[in-house]
Amino acid sequence: MGDGWDALVIGAGVGGLSAAALLAKEGLRTLVVEKEDRVGGRAMSFKGEELSERGAEWYRRLLGGQYSYLASATPSLEEMAEGRLLDGYLLDLGYHGVSCAGEGYFARLRDLIGGYGDLEVRINPCLTGTWYRGEFYAEPPLHSARLDDKLYAELKRLGLSYLDFFGDMSALTPERLEELDRVSLHEHLQRTGFARSEALYEYWHCVGTLVTTINNPHEISLGDMLRYSVQVIAPLIMRRGEAYVGGFTENGVMRWSEAVAGRFREFGGELRLRTRLKRLIVEGGRARAAVVEAEEGEERLEAERVVFALPIQELFRYAEEEAFPADFAERVKGLYGYGSVCPYMGLSELAIPEEHARRLMKTPRVVGREEGFDWDVYMAWNVQSFIEPSCAPPGKHLFTAYLPLTEREARDRDLVMKVVQAVPDFLESVYPGFKDTVEWELYPVCAKLEGVAKSVSQAGSLKPDVRAPGVEGLYFAGDTARGYGVAMDCACSSGILCASAITGTDYGIH
Ligand SMILES: Cc1cc2nc3c(=O)[nH]c(=O)nc-3n(C[C@H](O)[C@H](O)[C@H](O)COP(=O)(O)OP(=O)(O)OC[C@H]3O[C@@H](n4cnc5c(N)ncnc54)[C@H](O)[C@@H]3O)c2cc1C
Repeated sequence: MGDGWDALVIGAGVGGLSAAALLAKEGLRTLVVEKEDRVGGRAMSFKGEELSERGAEWYRRLLGGQYSYLASATPSLEEMAEGRLLDGYLLDLGYHGVSCAGEGYFARLRDLIGGYGDLEVRINPCLTGTWYRGEFYAEPPLHSARLDDKLYAELKRLGLSYLDFFGDMSALTPERLEELDRVSLHEHLQRTGFARSEALYEYWHCVGTLVTTINNPHEISLGDMLRYSVQVIAPLIMRRGEAYVGGFTENGVMRWSEAVAGRFREFGGELRLRTRLKRLIVEGGRARAAVVEAEEGEERLEAERVVFALPIQELFRYAEEEAFPADFAERVKGLYGYGSVCPYMGLSELAIPEEHARRLMKTPRVVGREEGFDWDVYMAWNVQSFIEPSCAPPGKHLFTAYLPLTEREARDRDLVMKVVQAVPDFLESVYPGFKDTVEWELYPVCAKLEGVAKSVSQAGSLKPDVRAPGVEGLYFAGDTARGYGVAMDCACSSGILCASAITGTDYGIH
């Protein structure tokens, strides 16, 4: 290949970096190009001081570059920047809990690349809880497999056990899981009998929405939920004796991507920031090169293999559609997305009881479907600074939350504003006095949450493969390509699968 690269990875998000680190470790001369000035992609972070110093437009552009926009801010973003209201806070682009507190596929990658290097990545686990019809349901960690007593009473009444949800786990072969990718949570809850109790139904519905970011239980894919339980959570409990649903990263979620990028460089890889893909060159059924643009101008980069680590729906902005088989092109164009409203609030003090503040809380209905939504809008929320204090200045707190929407809803500003207005009212109803503690509010909205969203038509095995059909030397990595688990973990598993397809090394994910 002369002066060309062995592998060119486009995009330094979680998926691209996971693939790149493994390729570089295997000795491939690997270049990663990233359009932004930092790594992480949709899982990036920024300091409040950056808003104060770089201004409101900078933040709006940052969101825009990651399929997101700002729906509302109080006070205005300009006033926040001027008054330096966010100084001392560290914000992720949008709510970013890490599934299994980083002990899922993140940990698999960490072990494969021999640790995170000099950069410490600490992900603090949290417990979970549910708020349902004005009552609090405490949930212990995953390893205890105990439910709240009120739910136990319901199970007893119906003659069911918690584990009936999973059925015979030894029968959950990869083939069976692929079949279950097409089965909805609703269908499963009906079949197993949990649907006979409204409280149990809503409990599982909340769990399903938490791990898929889909409100509608008819759309939530069961296969992906069970796959994660069997392939990630159960082995984790066996190995470590403990497992948590989620956690938050100290110093922002981007710390993980920075650490992986650091390892990539140590393996000899090169990372070019502020370098944007303009065109993918596919000739004679083979990916040959990419044209990129940086401050110095345009450059054609030759590479033996190209990894397209952007959401796959973007592919035909950069490559000729005719180069791909027609059914693949149709499939990619037909992929639909999901979205989320991600409220961020700076709190002067904690009006939320500690029993809630140390948990990831969830509730099935903050806005009703009768307001024009596909389903009742759920919310998950945290006092993030209670779980990892690095995200707020001393004495203050950072409240974060997310409310899933369909892509259509996320792009409809009227619907989004209904959500924005409902959030503080809901919180005030649960925590009287809450509104008085809010110093500032930001409502970013994302319209491409694909990694989280696992629907009966697009989950797990139903995603496009990491190997591009009909085009040699072209691969995909990231949360829209084949991969398993929740969101960032899914992007990471997809990066591992991609590297495996390129090098032939079996990394133990299939
Ligand atoms: C608001 C929000 C909340 C979320 N909440 C959670 C959560 O709580 N938990 C969780 O696990 N996940 C969450 N996610 C999902 C998670 O962020 C994604 O699943 C994951 O980061 C996707 O990684 P990726 O590598 O597939 O894609 P991306 O992160 O999109 O990576 C693509 C990269 O390519 C770069 N790029 C794009 N175009 C070009 C170009 N032309 N040239 C060069 N580079 C380019 C982008 O800047 C980006 O860095 C959330 C996402 C959002 C947006």
